[in-house]
Amino acid sequence: MPRKTNPKKTAALKKPKKAKKKSGKPKYFTFSNAEGVKYEVVFRKPDERLFEGADGFCMDPEGEKPKIHINPYLTKRNELNTIIHEFAHAFFWEATENQVNKFGNAVSKFLYTECGWRKTESKRKTLYRGK
Ligand SMILES: [Zn+2]
Repeated sequence: MPRKTNPKKTAALKKPKKAKKKSGKPKYFTFSNAEGVKYEVVFRKPDERLFEGADGFCMDPEGEKPKIHINPYLTKRNELNTIIHEFAHAFFWEATENQVNKFGNAVSKFLYTECGWRKTESKRKTLYRGK
């Protein structure tokens, strides 16, 4: 159950959510990289014709409406790695694939094996819809 909150505050927070639902368009998670380029994160299998067997991909920040695609059929550990990897591309576009790989592997390994980070099933639905 929610904690006791100021009723006015609660009402104010609910309004924008209703507005989003009415538009019918799914609202994906977005973020801006250090240069202020807005990215949308979508759980979608990367196009096989372009990215054979890829777990994810990140579009060029100079392109139109850049997106990150994450294959939704990955193991949770692979998903963690892929998310970190693709986000790294979005922030450090000039970095080589090898650099991004090593960065993503180091961070995800630390989170997974040392810190015990795990994804819970209930979160998955939220992530697919992008909140
Ligand atoms: Zn990459």
